[in-house]
Amino acid sequence: MILIHNTASGKKEELETVESGHVRMYVCGVTVYDDSHIGHARSYVSFDVMRRWLMHRGYRVTYVVNYTDVDDRIIDRSNQTDEPWEVIARRYIASYDEDMDRLNNLRPDITPKATEEIPDMIEAVKTIVDKGLAYEVDGDVYFDIEKGKQWFGTLKHQSIDDMRSGARVEVDERKHNPHDFALWKSSKPGEPSWESPWGKGRPGWHIECSTMSSKYLGIPIDIHGGGMDLIFPHHESENMQTWAIEGKALAKYWIHNGWLMIDEEKMSKSLDNFFTIKEILDRFDPMVLRFFLVHTHYRSPIDFSDANLEEARQAYERLATFRLALERYTEFAEEEEVEGLEEQVEANRLIFGRSMDDDFNTRLAVTQIFELVRIGNQVMMDHRLSKRLHRILEDTFDELTGVLGLEFDLVGGEGASLVAGLVEYLIELRHEARDAKDFEKADGIRAKLKDMGVVLEDGAEGTTWRVER
Ligand SMILES: [Zn+2]
Ligand SMILES: [Zn+2]
Repeated sequence: MILIHNTASGKKEELETVESGHVRMYVCGVTVYDDSHIGHARSYVSFDVMRRWLMHRGYRVTYVVNYTDVDDRIIDRSNQTDEPWEVIARRYIASYDEDMDRLNNLRPDITPKATEEIPDMIEAVKTIVDKGLAYEVDGDVYFDIEKGKQWFGTLKHQSIDDMRSGARVEVDERKHNPHDFALWKSSKPGEPSWESPWGKGRPGWHIECSTMSSKYLGIPIDIHGGGMDLIFPHHESENMQTWAIEGKALAKYWIHNGWLMIDEEKMSKSLDNFFTIKEILDRFDPMVLRFFLVHTHYRSPIDFSDANLEEARQAYERLATFRLALERYTEFAEEEEVEGLEEQVEANRLIFGRSMDDDFNTRLAVTQIFELVRIGNQVMMDHRLSKRLHRILEDTFDELTGVLGLEFDLVGGEGASLVAGLVEYLIELRHEARDAKDFEKADGIRAKLKDMGVVLEDGAEGTTWRVER
């Protein structure tokens, strides 16, 4: 039994799929106007882990993630840079795909682009207009939220009337209710546009996702996911639209991942505490970033800081070192059994599974992997590791880390430690040269290493080095 926290009910619910044995899952994709940031990394790694776990439990999973490749922000960027919007969209789709591959997210089964689905979106808007639930003003079409108010609040847990008295929103005289949202937007000359019954324009963001999820998965889909910031207005609006069109809810389970904070503040482009995935991967191995993300439960906030990433790096290294030691181990003990350890490994495996079944609790699951490491290191140190237990440890470790999408470089690991040894040796030679006042030689070593991409930094604690990629 798998429990999933459903934002709609605010509770954990047992997963019961619409079709037996088949999970149909839609996660809102990125708007491709810039490189993806680490908030995106968090979200898509979280959903990738869920998908992997559901597959591990024997479900067939159909996983759809779209690209929002027409949007105000893409148009703004195009106006600023004089680049065609299609070129910008294509570049950042490729950039996103590259980031996801490096983070070892499995490619989705279907990745629709909004711009390739426009006729279906126009049909969807037409249906809502025909039912009298939307109105047109000057080529824009708005969803009439008063007329759909019985469907409002599934995720926000507030009624339209609560909303009216509470929030401050921009007043637009053309709208019936300030919360009415655009299903279709008229375009200015030079902007991307498609012919429609309301003139040239483009779809609103919310109708894109309603259309693509129902087209590729059928309604209701099992799981609709995204970051917490998408609950309102995006997902609430998607759900209302689908009620309006299909007469039923868009999804059975709504899953939202928690915030990613930077040094305990909310990430924000304007506050300049903002990192792209590429910036982080210049400094950290993709598996370290992935480990950092999965060792917290997906609904808890994550605090992103250099210190926390460094901690994750050390923890990941501990796993990598263990896996390599296991790989190289040859001095097997004779006896078939070490009292109770096989059972202990199996117990860790079961607790891992129970944690994952409980709303994908990767935080608890990861502790079980470290239990394996503890057991394994102990028996290796004691020279009590039998061939049989060795195989069980290896299989279990690979199974559990694999479900989290963590990989370990068993060949490169040896190369990497060889490189580290050589660099340390050259640093030592450089210090000796400096002590002997042979600065030419010392600077020569530094320059040579720099040519090879190894940067030295002298500090109070001695010299550190890093590889600049
Ligand atoms: Zn099916
Ligand atoms: Zn969406």
